[in-house]
Amino acid sequence: MGKSSKDKRDIYYRKAKEQGWRARSAFKLLQIDLQFNIFKDVTKVVDLCAAPGSWSQVLSQKLYVNDTDTKDNVKIVAVDLQPMAPLPGVIQIQGDITKSTTIDVILSHFNGIKADLVICDGAPDVIGLHSMDIYIQTQLVISALNIACNVLKVGGHFVAKIYRGKSTHTITKQLLKFFKEVTIAKPMSSRNSSIEAFVVCLDYSPTGFDAPSINSFFTEDTVNIVPFVACGEENAFDSDTTYPLQLEGEDKYEYKEPVQGPIAPPYYFADHIK
Ligand code: SAM
Repeated sequence: MGKSSKDKRDIYYRKAKEQGWRARSAFKLLQIDLQFNIFKDVTKVVDLCAAPGSWSQVLSQKLYVNDTDTKDNVKIVAVDLQPMAPLPGVIQIQGDITKSTTIDVILSHFNGIKADLVICDGAPDVIGLHSMDIYIQTQLVISALNIACNVLKVGGHFVAKIYRGKSTHTITKQLLKFFKEVTIAKPMSSRNSSIEAFVVCLDYSPTGFDAPSINSFFTEDTVNIVPFVACGEENAFDSDTTYPLQLEGEDKYEYKEPVQGPIAPPYYFADHIK
């Protein structure tokens, strides 16, 4: 298969490289923002499961709007199991979001100041067994929510990736205990064929609760139906369509290398064991 075949099959992969994003995921966050305006008046954000860093790049671009924005009023803390190549203005933590020690490290960077927004694009290594993948993914959402409950200001927002399945309604029902408004969003850049979607939770309003547990996410028997919205520009590319390499009205197509290759891929370690 030629170098450019993925460019042809995946328009957002190709556009990410052309526009300087480390991953196509950047478009998902941008399209969510277009619909929900999640960055309005936001200066402090926690980006969970952030590697390789395209969401942090979007945050940087949106939060450091002009030269007078210094590290004092803008704070972006990014966390991932994997190491991430540095990004100016982004504090990076290598850690597991399901561990309480990681929460402590995140909090230590906030020094009692609250965050305006917590986002999580966490995805486990899928094993292909749908119910198991959804269960593990839900654990990441719970861990992210736990972190949000520790660091988010009242009125703050929370966005997290979910895998849609039988438990979706119980997840949203739990989230409605913490946020005034919960919507499931499907950005145009997220393939229809993927069970991925995002919960967009606005206006954090804790009313006294126990820390969320995974059991409560799977045992609720009644459901709260929340809105499901597709988001993106009206003329956004369809992520399931194969486009020609040369698009009408665009500059001459030229293959571009990914913006940031993996900095510690598993094969690197395998190579060093030999
Ligand atoms: N939002 C990122 C971006 O824009 O570049 C892409 C995130 S990628 C889809 C999912 C990430 O979740 C992976 O980098 C993976 O290492 C991370 N992850 C999975 N489980 C995690 C955990 N328990 N703690 C921290 N990160 C985790």
